[in-house]
Amino acid sequence: ASLFSAIEMAPRDPILGITEAFNADKNPAKVNLGVGVYYDDNGKVPLLECVRKAEAQLMEKAAPRTYLPIDGLAAYDKAVQELVFGADSAVVQEKRAVTAQALGGTGALKLGADFLKRFSPNAQVWISDPSWENHRALFESAGFVVNTYPYYDASTRGVNFAGMLQALETMPAGSIVVLHACCHNPTGADLTEDQWTDVIRVVASRGLIPFLDMAYQGFGDGIDADGKVVRRFADAGGPLFVSNSFSKSFSLYGERVGALSIAAVSAEEAARVLSQLKRVIRTNYSNPPIHGGQVVATVLSTPELRQMWEEELAVMRVRIREMRQAMVQKLKEKAPGQNFDFVVRQRGMFSYSGLTKEQVQRLREEFSIYAIDTGRICVAALNSRNIDTVVGAIAKVL
Ligand code: PLP
Repeated sequence: ASLFSAIEMAPRDPILGITEAFNADKNPAKVNLGVGVYYDDNGKVPLLECVRKAEAQLMEKAAPRTYLPIDGLAAYDKAVQELVFGADSAVVQEKRAVTAQALGGTGALKLGADFLKRFSPNAQVWISDPSWENHRALFESAGFVVNTYPYYDASTRGVNFAGMLQALETMPAGSIVVLHACCHNPTGADLTEDQWTDVIRVVASRGLIPFLDMAYQGFGDGIDADGKVVRRFADAGGPLFVSNSFSKSFSLYGERVGALSIAAVSAEEAARVLSQLKRVIRTNYSNPPIHGGQVVATVLSTPELRQMWEEELAVMRVRIREMRQAMVQKLKEKAPGQNFDFVVRQRGMFSYSGLTKEQVQRLREEFSIYAIDTGRICVAALNSRNIDTVVGAIAKVL
C-alpha cells in the first residue's frame, strides 16, 4: 500500500462547491449570491482607482524584490496599526501595540492562533454561533478546543445578547473569545454600542482574551465607526488580539493583505511579544509577500490616495445599503404579508435572509439563483440588473 492509499477524500468546501455548481449552470439569468466578494453594479469585482494609481507609482519605481522583514513592510505595519487603533490612541503613542503584516485576515487569525497556542496552551476558544465557517477549523488546526457562544436569534433576526453575555460571564478566565468587530459574517447582525460596553466590561472582569476579527472595516457605518470597538477594547487595557483584512475594503482578495495586531500593557512587553510573533512567522512562511503590502501602505500614507480610498470604500458601502433597501422595497410589493425590514438593519456584505434550506434549494434548481443552505446571501452580489430576478424568485419560493 502506498503512503496515500488509506487517505480519505476530505469534505468539499460548501461555499466553493456552490461556485462550482454556479459556473457549470448554463442559464444566462443565473445569479451567485453564495460568494463573499463585493461586486459593483456591473457585476464585476472592482479594481479600485487608488490601487491602480499606487501600482502605477510602484511600477515606475521598479524596485528590486528583496525579502521583506519577518513581520512585513515597516511602513505597512505602521499605517495599519494607526488605522486599526487610531494614530493618537494611547496604545500607539505608548508603543504598546505590535502589528505584523499577514496573509490576509485568515493568515492573521492563524498567526494569532499559533501564538496563543504557544503561550496559553490550555485555554479554550469560543466563537459565535454561527460564525465565519473557517474560524472553527482554523483554531482547531492550531490545536485548540473550540466552543460556541450564543449569538444569532432567528426569532428576532438579531443578536441573542442575553445568551451571549451569560456565556461570557461563565467562561473560565483566560478563555479566548473571537468577536466580529463589525459586519458579522454570516448573519449581518452586529452589537450596539451599549452591548459592546457590556461585553468589554465582562471580558475585562473575567480575564478573557478578546480576539477581534475585523474583515469588513468600512462596510458597516464607515472606517472610523466600524473600528471604534477595537479602540474601545484597547482603551480597556489587557491583552487584545486584532486580525484585520484588506481583501474586501481594498478589493485585493488575491494579494493576501491583512495584519495581526496585539496590544500589550507596556512597550517592553510588546517588544517581547513581537520577538515571539516573529518566530511564529519565521517557521511558517519566513516573511510575507511584498506587492499587496506596498500597495496598501502607499495608499494609506499618501493623502490624495487615502482620500480616494475612503471615497471608493464609501461607494461600495452605500451601494450595498441601496441594494438592501431595494430588496426590502421590492419584496414588500411582491410578497406583501412578509416582513423583510430586518435586511436593512443588517450590516456588511451578508444577510441571513431567513430562507430555509428547502427554499434555497428551490432557488437553485428552479431559478439558477445560488445562496448558502443556511439562507446566507451576499447582498454585495445584487445589482440593478439582477435584483428583480432575485426578488421575483424569492417571492415565488416563500
Ligand atoms: N474573517 C471573516 C469574518 C471573514 O468573513 C473573512 C473572509 O471572508 C476572513 C476573516 C478572511 O479574510 P481574508 O480573505 O482576507 O483571508
